[in-house]
This record gives sequence, C-alpha cells and structure tokens, in this order.
Amino acid sequence: MRDFIPVNKPLLDGNEKKYLLECIESGWISSEGPFVKELEQKFAARVGRKHGVAVCNGTAAIDVSVEALGIGAGDEVIMPTFTIISCINQIVRNGAVPVLVDSDPVTWNMDVAQIESRISRRTKAIMIVHIFGLPVDVDPVLDIARRYGLRVIEDAAEMHGQSYKGRPCGSFGDLSTFSFYPNKHVTTGEGGMILTDDDDLAETCRSLRNLCFQPGNRFVHERLGWNFRMTNMQAALGLAQLERLDYFVGRKRAMGARYTELLKDVAALRLPAGNTDYADNIYWVYGVLLEQKSEQERRRLMQRLHEAGMETRPFFFPMHQQPVFRQRGMFQGECYPIAEGMYRTGFYLPSGLALEDEEMTYIASELKRLLA
Ligand SMILES: *Cc1c(COP(=O)(O)O)cnc(C)c1O
Repeated sequence: MRDFIPVNKPLLDGNEKKYLLECIESGWISSEGPFVKELEQKFAARVGRKHGVAVCNGTAAIDVSVEALGIGAGDEVIMPTFTIISCINQIVRNGAVPVLVDSDPVTWNMDVAQIESRISRRTKAIMIVHIFGLPVDVDPVLDIARRYGLRVIEDAAEMHGQSYKGRPCGSFGDLSTFSFYPNKHVTTGEGGMILTDDDDLAETCRSLRNLCFQPGNRFVHERLGWNFRMTNMQAALGLAQLERLDYFVGRKRAMGARYTELLKDVAALRLPAGNTDYADNIYWVYGVLLEQKSEQERRRLMQRLHEAGMETRPFFFPMHQQPVFRQRGMFQGECYPIAEGMYRTGFYLPSGLALEDEEMTYIASELKRLLA
C-alpha cells in the first residue's frame, strides 16, 4: 500500500540541519540570536526593500501592520472577501470597518475594478492579498491609492519569489507581509516578515512586535504591543530555505504545469490560469473548481479522495459569510457571487515541495476515475 499523501510536505534538504545545529552549539536560540537580523536583511534585499521585521507568524505580521498604520475606530479598509481570516482580524479588533470586494473569476484575486466604488470619506487603506499563485493586478490599485491618498498593506504570504511585471511581490505595500508557514515557498516552521522602505514604520513595527519595550526605559510603556518575536532557530531554517528560493519557485511552476497537463482534458474541472499578461503562476497551491457542482458534491469528492489516500483542502470561506462576523451584524445583505462560488466548488490538491511526480500522476488518475 502506498503512503497517505498529505496536502503539504515541505522540503528541508539544504542547509537547514547545519544552521539549526549552529543554534544549539552556540546557545543562541532566542530572538536575540544573529540569524534573525541576517534573515531580515537577506529577505528584504531579495525583495528590494529597505527594512525587514521578522515576527512569529504571518498573521502577526498583518496584525502589526494594521496597528502600525494607526487603523482604528471608524476607519475603513478595502480588502477581498476571498481570503484567510488573518487579513481581517486586527481590523475588526481595532474597531475599523472591513469593506469587501469580490474576486476576479480568472485570477481568483480581488477584482480591482470594484475598488474605486467602495471608497468613502472614511477609507484609510487598501489591503492587497495575492491569492494562490497569481498576483493581484497591482498597478491600478497603486494608482487609486495615490489618487485618494490611501495606505496600502500587501499580504504576500503566498508570493515568495513571484513578481508582477518584473517587480517583486512584497515590494508594493507601505507595509508588505509574508508568512513562513510550512506550506509557503519559504518556511521557518512558524514565522513571518514585514517589509517596508519607511524608517519610521519599520521602527514602529519592531517596537510593536517586542511589547513596546522602550530603549533606555525598558519597562515603561507608551503603547500596547505584542510578543511576536521570531526565534534564532526559526531564522536558521529561513536562511537555509531562502538560499533555495529560486529552485523552489522553478519546482512549483513545473509541478503546476504537470498537474495541468495531467488534468487538462477533464471537462468537470476548471484549472488555474497558468499566466496573465503580468505574471506566470507560481502555484502556491494547485486549486481546482468543479464545474456546475454543489458544495455537497465537492465535499463528497474530497472524502473519496481521502479514501483513495490523499489529503485535499477546501478554498477559503469568504469573510462576508463567516459566522463570527454575521453574529456581530456585519456584512448584512452583502453578496459576492464569484467568491461564494469558489468556496462551494473549489479545493486544492497536494501541493507541497516534497511531493513526487509519481504521486502527482496517481492523484490525477484517482481524480479522473472519481469524476468519470
Ligand atoms: C498563510 C497565510 C497567512 C497567515 O500566515 P500564518 O503564518 O499561517 O499566520 C496570511 N495570509 C495569507 C494569504 C496566507 O496564505
């Protein structure tokens, strides 16, 4: 019997072990260790940004960014409804108002044509979230932000090594965030990073991640922060992973092309777009949509695939449908049909970097068999 195929298995066969051993042998295991700053500098340099602020996960990176920009009571932030809960948490906690837009049916990213009509006197920021492997169409968003004087937060958690018209993803926000969860192209187990070119914002983010301890007056606080520090051991993993980023992106693109080749004749499936006129897909995950199917049918198919020895995941459940917000009376009567349809019929296949070609062949053949 073949081994069960998990939805994600990371690849850790570079210098990960060597750098981790250095942490243990030197005794540097906390956030004070030298690898944290090295990762911040190398990661920022890779994306062409001035500052990197390492944190304990990608959600924390977004929380800090929302707080650092002073997004608070009454402020509105325009963002996609089709995203992970991480993007919206701190906006809601701070008493600000998330204003949603639907998705583009081809790229699955926020439909940038809907942004301008959602702007009001209270709009303070736009949150860009690049979804699954193709970037948001960034230029129109930056143009709107400039014209209306809005801040931009860019969630590039799924976009390590991706670019938009040749410019790196993660270079577009006043604050841009990454996650290093094991299913991202660079992993530290748990981890995240904020990138910025703004000296003051970088300082604010550093302070917020470190409980707002004050230099020279450590235990006296002017502001509430968090302990969101990254450890030297996480940074050790990150440095080893970053060395291999180009290889990882190439491998992910090859995996995406392979799935597409194996599945292109299956009429019941809508496959992800391989490219747009501004980017080639890096397939953070390989997502598919079931044509003309119900949520029940999608769930049943995922169950059958589980029985056939593989794990799959549903797409994001849109923010406007989340019980936690409906209970608060938010998003009443709002409807975003593209995102709702994507959740009903979408799921993604095993996509981790350690997945083998032979496993992909098996996954595709089982999927075809179950859909026949
Ligand atoms: C993974 C992810 C996050 C959250 O990162 P964590 O490290 O899991 O907290 C945020 N946004 C997007 C788009 C993600 O894919």
